[in-house]
Amino acid sequence: MLYKSTRGKGEAVNSANAIVRGIAEDGGLFIPTSIPKINFDCNALSKMNYRELAYFVMKEFFTDFTEEELKNCINKAYDNKFDTDEITPVNKIGNDFFLDLHHGPTLAFKDVALSILPHLLTTSVKKLGLDKEILILTATSGDTGKAALEGFNNVDGIKIIVFYPVDGVSIVQKLQMVTHDGHNTHVVGIKGNFDDAQKAVKEIFTDEATRKQLDAKGFMFSSANSINIGRLIPQVVYYFYAYLDLFKKGEISKDEKINVVVPTGNFGNILAGYLAKYMGAPIDKLICASNENKVLYDFISTGTYDSNRDFFVTNSPSMDILVSSNLERLLYFISGENCETINALMSSLKNEGKYKVSEEMKAKLSDFYGGYATEEETCAAISEIYTDFKEIIDTHTAVAYSVYNKYKKATKDGTKAVILSTASPFKFPKSVMEAIDKKYAGISELELIKEIKKLGNYNIPAGIKDMDLRAVVHNTVCDKTEIKKSVTDYLGI
Ligand SMILES: *Cc1c(COP(=O)(O)O)cnc(C)c1O
Repeated sequence: MLYKSTRGKGEAVNSANAIVRGIAEDGGLFIPTSIPKINFDCNALSKMNYRELAYFVMKEFFTDFTEEELKNCINKAYDNKFDTDEITPVNKIGNDFFLDLHHGPTLAFKDVALSILPHLLTTSVKKLGLDKEILILTATSGDTGKAALEGFNNVDGIKIIVFYPVDGVSIVQKLQMVTHDGHNTHVVGIKGNFDDAQKAVKEIFTDEATRKQLDAKGFMFSSANSINIGRLIPQVVYYFYAYLDLFKKGEISKDEKINVVVPTGNFGNILAGYLAKYMGAPIDKLICASNENKVLYDFISTGTYDSNRDFFVTNSPSMDILVSSNLERLLYFISGENCETINALMSSLKNEGKYKVSEEMKAKLSDFYGGYATEEETCAAISEIYTDFKEIIDTHTAVAYSVYNKYKKATKDGTKAVILSTASPFKFPKSVMEAIDKKYAGISELELIKEIKKLGNYNIPAGIKDMDLRAVVHNTVCDKTEIKKSVTDYLGI
């Protein structure tokens, strides 16, 4: 299995190279030269545990890893840092299925991929015989940051810098990051939004002068964002896991198709679902749920992607994104792997902030259904689930739940669906509790954590217990134009 750039320049490389580089040199994203087809045997596959299934799926993509290398990465990642051995359990609430992706150390779905990426990366570095120190630069809309800090914490040969929008994350998210204490970790607040941070990081990556400057000092860049295939591929696994879990419990019959509903921002999670579908998982519709930053909804409905619009800070901040990086990979597939088309669309995006795809490409978006939920609808979904079932879902999951209900109403589609639950309610206490009852307005987030525990009869997850007692170790805040300087300052070069 080889990987090439969506924009067509450069040689195809093996997975170890693609993981180490993060992004292709021409600014494109690495993409497998073909999507591997598997023999989807429900009966056999449903006997596997998460780790076994992870190996079954990932070995198709990381063909240059030995069985021992890959299994080693999987075993180190999916251990007791998750609070359930199922890793990603399916939870039935009423008649709906929620795939709980938030049982890792930082309480968001990013943990599933970021707990294995550091191992894939260090294994790749070893395999390639590189004697460079790796510098990970990560832009975060809130959840990637802490998950990456946790995953890369004290990993030898790697330094990591996380950039987050100073005014765009929840207090719990911010505390998780600024109190993170590891000798190889650094956190910088950006006066700007996630798109600003992501753009600046991408520019540093592809800047030849900076690359050379770092190279001379013994560093090379890589990325922990979902542009890295080492993050994308591990996410494919849980789509299979969810399907097989429903099959095992007798909720669906053999090979019955299901829909999946994905709260979407950077389009990484849902793209993994698309890969699962084309590998052979019986998935019908991929329902793409957006919040009020509904650029993807508009794209799926009209074929025009237009980022020239107001940016809203919503109560589902990890989806507050106007430029969804991973969409470039989907465009590559639906253009018939036409790099010229991708270059034209991406330069239009860069110069005009928008692009329009051909009718032919638009027709191929039919795997997807786009929907969005307003702030009010998101809050109503949380309140409804609490009132009816005494369960508390987080704001991102609520966006998906709300869009799913609108989808059912609009299409009358009775296909069973799995809603991806991407974060724990403990991560967004203020938004979640105010949605349940206005009386919680004005109470501090840290107090509200205790209320969630009481109301839902849950345990407070270890990752955020006593968070307020931890010392703040990262105070750096910089302007969005100074991101590059903050990197060289930190490295002392
Ligand atoms: C990152 C994130 C998302 C969006 O996922 P993408 O892969 O960027 O589309 C949704 N929900 C939560 C809680 C997240 O952290």
